Amino acid sequence: MSVGFYRQTPLRANEMKESEQRQAAAALESELGRPPRAVTGWPIVVELIAPRRKGTAVNAVVSPHPWEKPELLNATPRAQLSEQLENDRRSGKQAAVLQKLAEWWLNQTRDGHLRRQLDERSLRKLREIPGISWEMADRICLFALGAAIAPVGRAALRIGCRHGWGELESDREEWQHWLQQWAAAVPLELSQLVAWIDQVGERWCGPRPKCDGCPLSAFLPPGGPREPEGSG
Ligand code: SF4
Repeated sequence: MSVGFYRQTPLRANEMKESEQRQAAAALESELGRPPRAVTGWPIVVELIAPRRKGTAVNAVVSPHPWEKPELLNATPRAQLSEQLENDRRSGKQAAVLQKLAEWWLNQTRDGHLRRQLDERSLRKLREIPGISWEMADRICLFALGAAIAPVGRAALRIGCRHGWGELESDREEWQHWLQQWAAAVPLELSQLVAWIDQVGERWCGPRPKCDGCPLSAFLPPGGPREPEGSG
C-alpha cells in the first residue's frame, strides 16, 4: 500500500526503542489477544459510521439491508434509508454521510474491482466529505481498504503522551509515523496495532488513566504517566 502521504519524521519526544516496541506489542497481545482478522471492505465503513446500538430491539427486518452494498444504499431514498437504519438499531442521521461515502466508494471501483491503491486526490475527496473527520477518513482507509494509513485518535495521543513517546505539539504525520514505525518494528499489521490502541484507550487510558492492570503499565516512565496540559 502506498505510504506516500507520510513525512518520515520522528516524534520530538523520546522515540520508542525497538526492543520496547516489541515488548509492548507482546504485552498487548498477551492481554488482548489477536482477534480474527478484521473484515475489510464496504461493511466496515457502515460499522464505523453507523454501528449498531447495543441493548435495543431490532424493530423490523429488511433483507437485504440497503447498506450492504454501496449501489443499493445510493439507490435508496434518504428518508427510507434513515428509517431502515433506525429499524436496525443504527443512527438514521448517518444516512446522508453514508450516501456520500457510497458515492466515493463507487468512484474507487473500476470494472467491478475496488481500487485499494489510494492516490492523494481520492484521499482528499474522502476527507472533504462533510461529517467525516480526518481520523475517520484514515480509519476507513486502514480498516476498509487495508491502506497503511494510521488514524490518530484520542487513545493514541493519550498513550503516546503519557508514556513520553510523543508530545502533544507533534503534528499528525509525526504521530502516524510513530504508529507505523512501531508496527513495522514488531512486525505487525498496522490495523492490529491500532485495534489494540483503541482497546487500551477504551478500557484503561481514558481521560483519567487506570494504569493498574493495563498491559502497558510496565512501559511507563519513572514517576508514572505524564499528563501534558490539554491531553484529557
Ligand atoms: S499504563 Fe496508564 S498511561 Fe499507560 S496506557 Fe495504560 S492507562 Fe494509559
